[in-house]
Amino acid sequence: MPKLKLRLNFSIEKQNSGSKARAATFQTPHGDVKTPVFMPVGTQATVKAQTVDSLKAAGTCMLLANTYHLLLRPGPEVFKRAGGIHQFINWDGPMLTDSGGFQIFSLPHSRQMNEEGALFQSYVDGRLYLLSPESSIEMQKTMGGDIMMALDQCIPSSAPLGPAKAAMNVTHRWAERSLRARGDSDQALFGIVQGACHHELRKESAAFLRDLPFDGLAIGGLAVGESHGERCDLTALTIEQLPTNLPRYLMGVGTPIDLLESVHLGVDMFDCIIPTQLAQRGAAFTSAGKLQLRRSVYKLSQDPVDAQCDCRTCRQYSRAYIHHLIKADEVLGWHLLGLHNLAFYHRLMHEMRESILLGDFSSYYQRKRLELSRIDEQNPRRPPKKAKHVATSRLGNYEILRSVHGFYSRRQVSSGEVMHSVNAPSEEANLLYIEQSCLAARLARKGAREDDLLIWDVGLGAAANAMAAIHCFERCYAKKGGNALRPLRIVSFEWDLDPLTLAAKHAGCFPHLRHGAPLKILQNGNWQHDSNLLRWELLKGDFRDFLDSADIPKLIFYDPFSYKTDTDLWTAEVFSRIFTRCLPKSAELYTYSASTAVRAALLQTGFFVAQGVGTGPKSDTTIAFTSAKGAADHPLAPQLLGQEWLKRWRRSAAKFPENLSGQEKTRFETLIETHRQFSTDF
Ligand SMILES: [Zn+2]
Repeated sequence: MPKLKLRLNFSIEKQNSGSKARAATFQTPHGDVKTPVFMPVGTQATVKAQTVDSLKAAGTCMLLANTYHLLLRPGPEVFKRAGGIHQFINWDGPMLTDSGGFQIFSLPHSRQMNEEGALFQSYVDGRLYLLSPESSIEMQKTMGGDIMMALDQCIPSSAPLGPAKAAMNVTHRWAERSLRARGDSDQALFGIVQGACHHELRKESAAFLRDLPFDGLAIGGLAVGESHGERCDLTALTIEQLPTNLPRYLMGVGTPIDLLESVHLGVDMFDCIIPTQLAQRGAAFTSAGKLQLRRSVYKLSQDPVDAQCDCRTCRQYSRAYIHHLIKADEVLGWHLLGLHNLAFYHRLMHEMRESILLGDFSSYYQRKRLELSRIDEQNPRRPPKKAKHVATSRLGNYEILRSVHGFYSRRQVSSGEVMHSVNAPSEEANLLYIEQSCLAARLARKGAREDDLLIWDVGLGAAANAMAAIHCFERCYAKKGGNALRPLRIVSFEWDLDPLTLAAKHAGCFPHLRHGAPLKILQNGNWQHDSNLLRWELLKGDFRDFLDSADIPKLIFYDPFSYKTDTDLWTAEVFSRIFTRCLPKSAELYTYSASTAVRAALLQTGFFVAQGVGTGPKSDTTIAFTSAKGAADHPLAPQLLGQEWLKRWRRSAAKFPENLSGQEKTRFETLIETHRQFSTDF
């Protein structure tokens, strides 16, 4: 071990009662840092659309740079020649370099992890790189940041106990190797606490790392899929295990309210791309809450972005001008709004520090929490008419779109149809298929012998529904362990794998795909959970070709393209074949469609049809049961369609499927009019 050096000389100036918040100072070769501090992210050795000068004007004191990106381009030679990153980018203040662990984790399609490190292919020139604790430190030494980070193995926060523990143990061994590689350098080095969402692992990881000679400790692996509440819990319990005499850094977090909550819990340092990333999309953080300056209500507004802000943007420009620049996609709009957002963040950090120094943080915290939760109260939004999207990448007949609300979807180019167009894919999958089918409760093993629970996932798409089911299983597994779980089998049907291939290439846009399973499905057509209790298979081809031979399901997630695009999958004939295949067992079909035609087709087949939950702007979805008992036993007691629906159907222009003869129409009508679910004694 290297001899102990005092590198940051971290000293706490003030702590408050009623809160774990603290104000402190540490020293670096490029100046003192007063905490709590927010570090803008300079991914490609630049904070996007800002200059060193504008950063200083916004109040930036310390920057973060990404080792992963800078290793690939421009590469270490350039930093050696320049004499380090400070000279290269003309920044004379403190600088932290990350280790590259998080970036490797977000590109799951092109890397292999083992004990040595992570082997991955460069997205710049296709070269193979090994990022190991030693090579990461070597690159960080070459860049010469004031604080370096140890390489960690970051895995999804939803990872089950086994893989999470394995990744944590690797992270610990890499932490020791990083310290040895750092040696006697003057650069400070932080270790990173891992352990996904498992409390005992987080405690174990913090306890392990606090005994090593690090200059500070970071909480990693958060802000990657867990809820706000979970993140606060994990942050709080990790901090309890961390020493008080070292800086604490919560990596990759977050929104202004996240920063407030985390400072309250005792965090000193933050970094996040949000202020500049949202600026590009036209979002501004202000004292009146978050504003979206693309909105036409700002077209004529001569007010500054925030009347209470004294940043360069607010002193010099109107909302109308920023609105125009953002609409016209001009870089200046991004620059000006980014500058304002960074100024907002730095002012928030400064205010928090001042209130701690005054011994007044608790009341500041209460006040500010309300203020930060506000969203544009002066110009409240009307419900959106139709989500708008911007295309970003394309493969075959599909392209990736970014919605104005910030989430990503895929569009079939030929039909123009957008999968999950109105809310984020994983959100819709959870509401409509996972929660509504009560999947977690069904996975609980009750008797000694339970059959496998089989799900048909019709229309794999980008695997949002299948992955939602897998994540549900993994949450249950983490909570209850394998003995309490019923085995789950998911069979996905899809003829076109382009949507999944495309989305997997952009896993950064689709958090549900940051998992090993989708790649295995693309490579081998199947994937198995380590416990052997969960198996996922793909049947590639036309669903109708497998319909009579695939094993009989209990649950069907019916999610093909719409009737207009995938007409053949919404016919009475297909529903009738599904119904027959499922008999004599009782099965349930969940679908996003609530159209009269689809419900009529299901009813005339013999299904009992109920109204499903609304998801976001869709006020209605559909559940179909093969038996009346299935409907009656459903834990959520969904409402079967009744006389009201029947009346609407009788008046509907889409009363019958197309191309029915007169005789067939009579038969169709009779089947629906005499369906048991509409009889008065039902
Ligand atoms: Zn401003």
